[in-house]
Formats: sequence, C-alpha cells, structure tokens
Amino acid sequence: MDLLTAAIQDLVAANHILEQQRVVDTFGHISVRHPTKPNRFLLSRARAPDLVESGDILEFALNGDPIDASGPKPYLERFIHAALYAARPDVNSIVHSHSRTVIPFSISEVKLRPVAHICATIGEEVPVWDSHDNFGDTGMLIANLDTGRDFARLFGRASSVLMRGHGSTVVGDSIKEAVFTAIHLEVNAELQLKALQLGAVKYLTRGEVEQVAARFRAGKSGEGFDRAWEYWCRQAGAMRNTPLRG
Ligand SMILES: [Zn+2]
Repeated sequence: MDLLTAAIQDLVAANHILEQQRVVDTFGHISVRHPTKPNRFLLSRARAPDLVESGDILEFALNGDPIDASGPKPYLERFIHAALYAARPDVNSIVHSHSRTVIPFSISEVKLRPVAHICATIGEEVPVWDSHDNFGDTGMLIANLDTGRDFARLFGRASSVLMRGHGSTVVGDSIKEAVFTAIHLEVNAELQLKALQLGAVKYLTRGEVEQVAARFRAGKSGEGFDRAWEYWCRQAGAMRNTPLRG
C-alpha cells in the first residue's frame, strides 16, 4: 500500500473513532499532513465524521485553499489546520472538536490541567484562545487565515488549546497521537470536574507530565498510542471499510 492510501485509510478510521468516543458529533474534524508533500494536508469534505469515507478526503494547501478548486464543499474551519501546519513543522495531525466536558474550562477561571497519568499528553496546563481578544464580536469560528494565524500564535508549542465558548484543538506527531490526546482531553475534563467537587485537587507536576508523555511518545509498535489505536479501531468498527493494518 502506498503512503497516501495508508494515510487516507487511517484518517477515515480516525473520523469514526473520534465519533465513537464522543469527541466529535455532527461537527468537528481531523486532518493529517500529506505523507509525501509536507506543504499540503488531507481533510474530509464538510461532512459528519462518522459518515466520512475515503472518497471524501480532499487535499489542501497551507493557506487553506483546496488543491481542486472545483471539488466539494470543505469545512469552514479548515484554517485551524492550515495555520497550525504552517507554524508547526513538527505537527502531522490535528483534531478540532466541541467535546462537551472541555468547554466549561474555556469559559471559567479554572485551568484544564492533567489529573491522571493517562492524560499527560494534553500538556501541563491547557491555554485558552479567546477570539474576542483580537477580533471582537465574531461568529467565533476560525473561518479565515488571519484568525487561524492568531490562533496558531497563541497555540505556540502546546499540544492542546481550548477555544473560549467553542471547543478545543489538539495536535500530534501522528494521527494515533492526535486521536489519543483528543480523547484524553475529554477524559481529563470529566475527571477534573469530578475532583473539583470534592475539594482541592492535586495535579500532575511538570516533571510527571514530561516523563509520562515521553514514555507514550517513545512507545514501540503495539505499545502506547499504537495499542490504544488498535483497541479503538475495533470498538468503533473503524475498519469496516478498511482491513486492520500492521
Ligand atoms: Zn469548531
């Protein structure tokens, strides 16, 4: 199988996994950097993630323009992906979602921070980007490159960022890492909300976050992100159109 076909296959599976894990629903999207043309990325046409098939995947330039201008309607918020791939050569996959438990942390004073070791890849403290800071009253979507670049500037070297009153965006070195972190951003929000009801919360220290995240990222085939990916693929029936690859 060639690299592009494999990337599209994994991207379709990721769409189904993220829906099954309740990270995305009607809205939300995941992209991957083109495996042989790093100045392009792959993202579905505007469609609910659970319905995405390989024929829906489109190619985009890093300014957000579809390579085929006569193709189907793309997602309005593709500029999140475009601006982050342009700003972060280390990033190869991006998830944008409105997963529900995360949103309270984007509109309150309480920072989303890792409370469990499995959630360490979200980063030590998840920043919040507020569209109102630089753009005032808007539709609150990243619907052009200007807003995307502003978002990418605040994103910096983070692995996940919340968007005030909107949702979150997560990046990874691979589709498997981005899916893992997106799912655990939601898990952490659930756990942290529960813990806060009990009183003072002890968060992971910076050193713990670094060590746990490094261990996941150093995982060999069948370990860490790979192990989780295989499990979620089976749970989601994500390979219903595509056989499980080694
Ligand atoms: Zn959105």
